[in-house]
Amino acid sequence: MTESSRNTCPDTVKLVNENQCHMCMPLGGVIAFKGVEDTMVLVHGSQGCSTYMRLTNVEHYHEPVDVASSSLNEKQTIYGGEKNLKKALDNVIRVYEPKVIGVLTTCLTETMGEDLNRIIASWRTETGNDHTDIIPVSTPSYDKSHTEGFWTTTREIIAYYAKSGVLPHARVNVIIPHISTADIRAIQQMLELWGVAYTMLPDYSMTLDRPFAGKYLKIPEGGTSPTEIAEMGGAPLTIQFGCTCDESISPGAYLRDTFGVPLVNLPLPVGIENTDRFMQALEEHTGRPVPDRLRYERGWLIDAMADSHKYNASARPVIYGEPELVYAYTCACMENGAVPSVIATGTPHSHIGPMLKERLTDAIEMPVILEGADFSMIEKAALDTGSTIAIGHSGGRQLAEKHGIPIVRAGFPIHDRVGGQRILSVGYAGSLAFLDRFTNTILEKKYASYRTLRREELLSKIAAVPCEGYITD
Ligand code: SF4
Repeated sequence: MTESSRNTCPDTVKLVNENQCHMCMPLGGVIAFKGVEDTMVLVHGSQGCSTYMRLTNVEHYHEPVDVASSSLNEKQTIYGGEKNLKKALDNVIRVYEPKVIGVLTTCLTETMGEDLNRIIASWRTETGNDHTDIIPVSTPSYDKSHTEGFWTTTREIIAYYAKSGVLPHARVNVIIPHISTADIRAIQQMLELWGVAYTMLPDYSMTLDRPFAGKYLKIPEGGTSPTEIAEMGGAPLTIQFGCTCDESISPGAYLRDTFGVPLVNLPLPVGIENTDRFMQALEEHTGRPVPDRLRYERGWLIDAMADSHKYNASARPVIYGEPELVYAYTCACMENGAVPSVIATGTPHSHIGPMLKERLTDAIEMPVILEGADFSMIEKAALDTGSTIAIGHSGGRQLAEKHGIPIVRAGFPIHDRVGGQRILSVGYAGSLAFLDRFTNTILEKKYASYRTLRREELLSKIAAVPCEGYITD
């Protein structure tokens, strides 16, 4: 990489994607719908699309994850998929009896120009069903990533339910990006410590990570209730962890612009500064000071930062994945002295580029920033810049396998390890857990090789000493 091409966001339009760093748009929609109570998801497209989405979720969450399909084949591709979609709606209602059905389009049905609203209206007339909530979402995966599918679907869910004229109430809207279920629970616990009533959307902490119950449920318990979503327009405040999300698909911006709900759009609370901003927002909202428990957790985090900074300063991390997570981990690395060498996301449309440039003004060396990147670009940039450690999901495992760059696993999907859903990174306690994982990975690498390196160093020193200097008669 030449000096002139470094430190800039390259043209992200590639004709061929080699080992992509993002996933498909309706997959993000599936996860968002899994965060709504009593919901079944129906993917309008070929069987392969829904199989891929099921499999990716099952491998990460290690739970049964049902995703229905309208099973289009060559014939419907030519003549239209209306009949299949209507039959799929009948089947989903017969088998799952859901209160809500989320219908997502795919590359195929988007290219065919399937009109979901018309087909659903026609199905309602034919069946007389007016009690099942059916939420169609357009998710053309050839244009956008699963991150954008997640935000778009969350926004459409709110747009479907939220009504004007709702009586004002005290529950704060909390809108989250696609984070681990452990992180969802940690945010909920922080809100509870503050004594703040909230409506969190989408809440898939139970539907995708259920306690063992000994029996399979077609639709697992949990998720945000449609009744609460309908009242989001009457909330006093929306806190959204979506700084990188574009306004056009931002759920918080929709609530602000449609119902006048004030929006505080924050980065994900990973690292001390980002978590402080979340605490400050709650302090301003409640008028109360930070609860003692969270103050102690902040203190423990600062203590850990002091302990580990001498190791972190030597690290040059390559950070990749979804924009919101990548931005948050970058902030956490910077405040711990680990200046990133490469920061990359597979998502082509987000605000991460300008945000990073602003955040990295005090970096000793500007990292390479890649948007709309695939792993061939990330791998090359990591090698060119001498990255020593990686933070990201399992898609980047070749960095470790081929180049010995160890990965601190974070984000989605984690399919080559167990416990991806249990990775905790938010809040002071979560940031401390992340910091320990990060520092220990550096130390593990160091102790796995330092004896060999030391021996090689000594041997080369001995070899450099002229032998005759030591020989005496
Ligand atoms: S064809 Fe499109 S919608 Fe289907 S799995 Fe592939 S990227 Fe996703």
